[in-house]
Amino acid sequence: MKILVINAGSSSIKYQLFDLAPFESVRCSGYVERIGEASGQLLHRVHQKGGDHEHEQECPVPDHAAGMALILDALTDREHGVIHDVAEITGVGHRVVHCGEAYSDAVLIDDNVLKAIRDHVPLAPLHNPPNLTGIEVARELFSETPQVAVFDTAFHQTIPPHAYLYALPFDYYTTHRVRRYGFHGTSHKFIAAEAAAFLDKPVPDTCLISIHLGNGCSMAAIDAGRCIDTTMGMTPLEGLVMGTRCGDIDPAVHEYLVGQTGQDIAQITEVMNRQSGLKGLCGTNDMRDVKARAAAGDEQANRALDVYCYRIKKYIGAYSAILPDLDAIVFTAGVGQNVPLVRARICAGMERIGIVLDDALNEQEATQTREIHAAYSPVKVLVIPTNEELQIARETCEVLQA
Ligand code: ADP
Repeated sequence: MKILVINAGSSSIKYQLFDLAPFESVRCSGYVERIGEASGQLLHRVHQKGGDHEHEQECPVPDHAAGMALILDALTDREHGVIHDVAEITGVGHRVVHCGEAYSDAVLIDDNVLKAIRDHVPLAPLHNPPNLTGIEVARELFSETPQVAVFDTAFHQTIPPHAYLYALPFDYYTTHRVRRYGFHGTSHKFIAAEAAAFLDKPVPDTCLISIHLGNGCSMAAIDAGRCIDTTMGMTPLEGLVMGTRCGDIDPAVHEYLVGQTGQDIAQITEVMNRQSGLKGLCGTNDMRDVKARAAAGDEQANRALDVYCYRIKKYIGAYSAILPDLDAIVFTAGVGQNVPLVRARICAGMERIGIVLDDALNEQEATQTREIHAAYSPVKVLVIPTNEELQIARETCEVLQA
């Protein structure tokens, strides 16, 4: 069973081809970048036992259709291809950011699904349009292959109204769809399954706090395998301090800053999305730099880390209050998987709610799923590498087999 996973952005298409049976493996992966610019690039990586093999190509890629055609050529090429014919691909799974309340699971794409994704463009104006384009060109090129949409918002559809409603006039919700939706759902769902397997418990018996710390950051409170709250809101701007996003903020700051700076609301929102978070607090959003500067005694970087970690700690407290039980907290994504300093600062002083880190285990470098709590810690602390593409491939496969 071969599943092609597509993640189409405004000027790029990322892809991975998975073999799911009899074992899960990645056959190849890559991306097309700089679509629409004077010169574009394809990078195609074939994953083999003896080591990966890379093929690079520079050429103009005028649009997404041309980009997808390049990917198909790479997949079937005599030298660096991994299939002989497109018919070998069982299904194509597309990452789609926003489908609001329309879908709570992955779905086989038909015209109704395309319409639903289009209906949610106002809620995700940067992401849904390129996701749609990716689906449209893939449907043309892989016309005989079923296509599945896997939504970032779907896993959060189990969140109850008391957690997803903002305390605004109710018709803002009914008329304008203003509510908390949450994102990174594919990652949190993957983590829920991996953590349950690691803990040797069925997913429906597992209570977790999943902490995804990449460039974008979010947390999910998972009760019996179902998400009951998450930190991102109507947009990905709410919640944790991120690489360049501010996360939670007093909504009155917008108007105040418009008056003080002369910038308009759109400009302030842009600053909150792209110039804030770690970058706003200390000038860089790359955690490697923040960490190195903090270690060298840089006060700004140290303070930025404090703000970043404090917000996460606060949400762990909130989520341990709303969950009926807590088996584990799980760190994942670039920062969560790789930065012991961040995990240590977050977990410091949390003994009272049952979280005790083992400092030596936390410091150990490793790439696989592992536990980093003290043997006597009532709540386990896990590090689990996330794999959103694999999750999309799995869900695509489930939809096709249903
Ligand atoms: P996204 O998928 O959201 O773009 P990632 O999950 O790749 O992001 O995480 C990106 C963040 O992780 C960056 O801040 C980067 O500095 C950090 N990161 C990745 N690897 C490491 C590492 N080995 N040490 C420290 N930080 C890392």
